[in-house]
Amino acid sequence: MSIEKALVTRSHSKCELCGATENLGVYGVPPDSEGEIDKSVFICEVCCEQIEQPEKVDANHWRCLNDRMWSQVPAVQVMAWRMLTRLSAEGWPQELLDMLYLDDETLAWAEATGEGSSDSSVKHVDSNGALLGAGDTVTLIKDLNVKGANFIAKRGTALRGISLVADNPEHIEGRVEGQRIVILTKFVKKSN
Ligand SMILES: [Zn+2]
Repeated sequence: MSIEKALVTRSHSKCELCGATENLGVYGVPPDSEGEIDKSVFICEVCCEQIEQPEKVDANHWRCLNDRMWSQVPAVQVMAWRMLTRLSAEGWPQELLDMLYLDDETLAWAEATGEGSSDSSVKHVDSNGALLGAGDTVTLIKDLNVKGANFIAKRGTALRGISLVADNPEHIEGRVEGQRIVILTKFVKKSN
């Protein structure tokens, strides 16, 4: 069974975060989803856009998490935790977070992209100085010879859903041709 079919079954053809029934798609939960069903959620375009572009977030859209955060699916719990954490300054998301219990493994996964990390001393910026966040999409601004992988990542290649290397502001991780690689922030440009 394809992952999409499996997710349609699991989600009953509804966005697993907001319940919408249109424009649904598979979203691999960062940082290390390889397309496994356990590490994917079935969500709508609106949720996906707001997850990937924090500046477009509409807090009220996420009131849906009031119900959805009780999902038994860890990948859904992780996305609920991350969005509530991102919005916690609004007040009500923090109240929901206080009620949301994740087991240790799921919590570690939820925290893996750095969402909610109070350590603001490490900032990742692209070649233009734009602040990068986990889950952003970036494009390469030059051809990169990928060491050990024996291929060239071409200038203009888009990397979706990057993750930030927590202790090194010059490093991000992204996927090129199915391989997870570390890239210097000075060689990328944030996509809008
Ligand atoms: Zn949705």
